[in-house]
Amino acid sequence: MKIHAIQTGTVEVKKNQVIGKGFGAQRLVNVLFGREWVEPPVPIYAWVIEHEEGVIVVDTGETARTSEAGYFPRWHPYYNLAVRFHVKPEDEVGIQLKQMGIGVKDVKKVILTHMHTDHAGGLHHFPESKIHVYMPEYRRTKGFQGQIDGYLLHRFPKWLSPQPNEFDSGAFGPFDKSWNVTTKGDVKVVPTHGHTPAHVSVVVEMEDVHYFLAGDTSYSEQNLLNKVADGVSPDPNQAIRTMQNILDFAKQRPTVYLPSHDPNSALRLKNMQIISAG
Ligand SMILES: [Zn+2]
Repeated sequence: MKIHAIQTGTVEVKKNQVIGKGFGAQRLVNVLFGREWVEPPVPIYAWVIEHEEGVIVVDTGETARTSEAGYFPRWHPYYNLAVRFHVKPEDEVGIQLKQMGIGVKDVKKVILTHMHTDHAGGLHHFPESKIHVYMPEYRRTKGFQGQIDGYLLHRFPKWLSPQPNEFDSGAFGPFDKSWNVTTKGDVKVVPTHGHTPAHVSVVVEMEDVHYFLAGDTSYSEQNLLNKVADGVSPDPNQAIRTMQNILDFAKQRPTVYLPSHDPNSALRLKNMQIISAG
């Protein structure tokens, strides 16, 4: 088994998104109208697990189409005020997989931590794979509220029909439920709600080290250690409870923490650098 980090471009976000500020609705206002941007832009990672049962892709990164005029809904304040994507065609996950010698048919499963555009933007590369999404997350993308929340339902591939992820494999460490992705149980999905109410993470066990493919549970390992919720989580307390669960997990087992936008995630993967949670 091997895990690869694939960087699908970068994204500029506000400092108030990375470290949330204020209370209630003010947190989102602080993101939209905050003057300071994170410098330099943060990476957008997707993950590839070369597993004996077939290749598993975790999150699909972003698409170069984000630079097309009108790709994002023009009326949406977040896309207008608070985010700038930098994705070139060669940054897309499909092209990078091909360069690694992994074809579309080799990818058996795609698991999404959540359906924000920078995680679901590369879905169109995987028409032959089973796409696994936690159903409450998929349901959230729909309707008027889904649009308000910034999901780009109209950009998802027409063929998309996600496989439910049932969390039927019992508790796993501090997580009250889990789902075995592989028959061996060395790849599991665990609930890490907070950044979105139905956000999940993927845990890969390899040679006694656990690799925590964390999506957006925090934007960096430091923010996890400090237990600071981001500025867009609808329930910051839930996000902090999830961070505590991850820290408890890391106390029980050597864990490499790999969130999607941490500039150091790829390096920590390469160096097998475990969380130094006290
Ligand atoms: Zn997100």
